[in-house]
Amino acid sequence: NLSRHTSPINGNKTIVSKTTIKITPQKPFYRPIAKEIEVFEHAYKNKLPILLKGPTGTGKTRFVEYIAYKLEKKLITISCHEETSSTDLIGRYIIKGAETIWINGPLTKAVKEGAIIYLDEIAEARPDVIVAIHSLTDHRRELFIDKLGKNIKAHQDFILVASFNPGYQKGFKELKPSTRQRFIAISFQYPSPQIESEIIENETGIEEALAKKLVHIATKIRNLTELGLTETVSTRLLVDAAKLIHSGLPKRLSVKVAVVEPLTDDLEITNALTDLCDLMI
Ligand code: ADP
Repeated sequence: NLSRHTSPINGNKTIVSKTTIKITPQKPFYRPIAKEIEVFEHAYKNKLPILLKGPTGTGKTRFVEYIAYKLEKKLITISCHEETSSTDLIGRYIIKGAETIWINGPLTKAVKEGAIIYLDEIAEARPDVIVAIHSLTDHRRELFIDKLGKNIKAHQDFILVASFNPGYQKGFKELKPSTRQRFIAISFQYPSPQIESEIIENETGIEEALAKKLVHIATKIRNLTELGLTETVSTRLLVDAAKLIHSGLPKRLSVKVAVVEPLTDDLEITNALTDLCDLMI
C-alpha cells in the first residue's frame, strides 16, 4: 500500500516524498462534526476542489478516508513537505536498461483514473506544486505535463482535496489568497466535549467517564492561551493517551507521555501541565 516515491538527485540529495494509495477495505469510523459530509458531496458533484482547514489532529485525514470509502473512490494521499515538487506529483523519466521510460506520478495517476487526490499540508510543498495544480482547480480540469508537452483532461471522478493548517504562529507557510480562492473550504476545529468523548470511546474502547476526563483535561489546556503553545491538545493526542490507558499503562503516565510531552519542551511548562493533569485524571 505504501510506495516510496523517489525524486531525481538534486545536488547530492535524494528527495523522498511519501505517497499512500488506498482502497479503503473497511468503513473508517468518522464522527461528523457539522455539515462537512454534505458539503463535500455537493462539492464533489460540482467538481469543485476542497480545502480542509484546521489544526493538526482534528480529523481531516480521517474525514477524507471516510469520504473515499463512502463514495467508493480510490484515495491517493501525498504528505507534502518542503521538498515536495511538481515532479514528485506529476512524474518523471527514469532510465531502465538502455531505455528511458516515463513514470506517472501520483497526481497524474489520480487525474487519469478518477481517484481522490489528497495533498496533505499543501502549504509546505514547493511553489511549483501550486502552479502545477492551477489548471486542475478551475473549469479546465486538466493537467499540463511539461516534460511530455501534453495536457491531460481529468477523469470525471477525479477530485482534488488539500489540507492546510492556518494556526501556526511562526516559521510555517501561508497559502496565497489567489490559491485559497480556488477551493471550497471546510473548517475543522476541536469537537464539542460530548462529540470528542464519543470519538475517544469509539477509537479506543475506554469507558465514558475516563474519556470525559481526558476531554476535560484537553479543554483546560486549550484555554491556557498564556502558555503560548504553537499547537495545543488535539483529538489525536487524546486518542493516543486513551489507547495507552486501555492497554494498561498507568493513567498519569499515559497522559504525561501522550498529551503533555508532545506539546512542549519547556521544563517549567511541562511540570506545570503534568501537575495539572495529575489532579484531573
Ligand atoms: P488531521 O488529518 O486533521 O491531522 P487525523 O484525521 O489524522 O487528523 O485525526 C487524528 C485522529 O483523531 C484520528 O486518527 C482519529 O483517531 C481521531 N479523530 C479526530 N476527529 C475525528 C472524527 N471526527 N471522527 C473520528 N475520529 C476522529
